[in-house]
Order: sequence, then C-alpha cells, then structure tokens
Amino acid sequence: MKNAVVLLSGGLDSATVLAMAVADGWRCHALSIDYGQRHRVELEAAARVARALGAIEHRVVPIDLRVFGGSALTDDSIAVPMSATPGIPITYVPARNTIFLALALAYAEVTASDAIFTGANAVDYSGYPDCRPEFLAAFEKLANLATRRAVEGEPIEVKAPIVRMTKADIVRRGHELGVDFALTVSCYNADAEGRACGQCDSCRFRREGFAGAGLPDPTRYRR
Ligand code: ZN
Repeated sequence: MKNAVVLLSGGLDSATVLAMAVADGWRCHALSIDYGQRHRVELEAAARVARALGAIEHRVVPIDLRVFGGSALTDDSIAVPMSATPGIPITYVPARNTIFLALALAYAEVTASDAIFTGANAVDYSGYPDCRPEFLAAFEKLANLATRRAVEGEPIEVKAPIVRMTKADIVRRGHELGVDFALTVSCYNADAEGRACGQCDSCRFRREGFAGAGLPDPTRYRR
C-alpha cells in the first residue's frame, strides 16, 4: 500500500476525497490546518471524519492566518456575505491553498507519501483562483522541484479527484462510498455546535448539491 497525505477541512468535499483515496487503497495521513478560521468547529468535524473513514492518522497544524487577515474567514471585522457577490468573494483567504499544500508537501516527505489529495473544486465553487486545475498542476511541478524525495527519484503527485465534478456528483460519490455527511461542517458561519447558517456561499453550494443528487440533506441548520 502506498502512503498519501489528504488535506481534510471537515467539509463535504474533502470528506469525499478521503473516502475515494481510502477506497483506492491509499494509506491516508489526514492533515487539517487550524488557521484561525471563523468556522473553527470544522476541525472537530475533520477529526470525526478522519476516524470514521479510516485515515491511519490525523494531524492538525496550527498556523494563525489572522496575523494577516484580509478575509471574512480570518478577520472578525469583515462579515461573511449572506448572498452571492460578484467576483472573487471576501471569503477568499489570501494564498490559502498554496500555504496548505506547502504544509501537506512537508508532511508527504516525512510520511514517504506518493501523493497529496486535495478537495479543491472548480465547478460549484466561489471562484477562488487556488482551486483551479492549472494552479494544482503548477503546484505539482513545484513539489517535484522542491523536495529531496522528488530529486532522489520519488515524485509526488497532487491529486484533485473532484476538481471537475459538480457538487451533486460529489454528494452522490460520497454517498456511494458511505460518507456520513452528518459528520461534516461546510458553513463559514457555523456556530460552536457546528450548526449551519444556511445562507453563506458554502451553505448554498452544499444545499444545492444534496438537492441535485436527490439525497436527503443531513445538515443541521440553526434557526
Ligand atoms: Zn453558512
């Protein structure tokens, strides 16, 4: 069995990716980042998901992106928009996936992993530039220039198995693989118990995904 690092946010997409990687026979080292996110409760969800889906370990790296702010997710003075906004929304966290993939790359070298899995999606998404396939391809190129492992002949692949799937397809695929979506938290405004606002971008994509898949939505919404 080959080792892989799986970036796990605690949301629906990365849970499905973890289930896909486990089903394909990878020994999965799950990695979550405690970056000062507003919806920090997602980290508890990530721990539940890692356990439920059979990750062989789950690490959480603290790295406080509130030092920079610049996003509704890392600055309490910026509100999460409650309806769609034009352009790249203020929930974009500057360079987040570059930072996360860099941490995953370090973990991949230590765990002798052949792949890094990310739940990035460029279909039903908020237009974040660091979720696009061309970004992920560029990062893979970087990974294979940057590491001892790669220079010594063991390349690292960046795998984004859901990057071109619709949210409904992701929900369907996760459901087939037995993902308990009730364990996951997607909402940017989730309360301390993990209950969703039902109005942010992330809640909207998630709700439409369950509706499109024709599956019951187990999300707990607050009143
Ligand atoms: Zn929400």
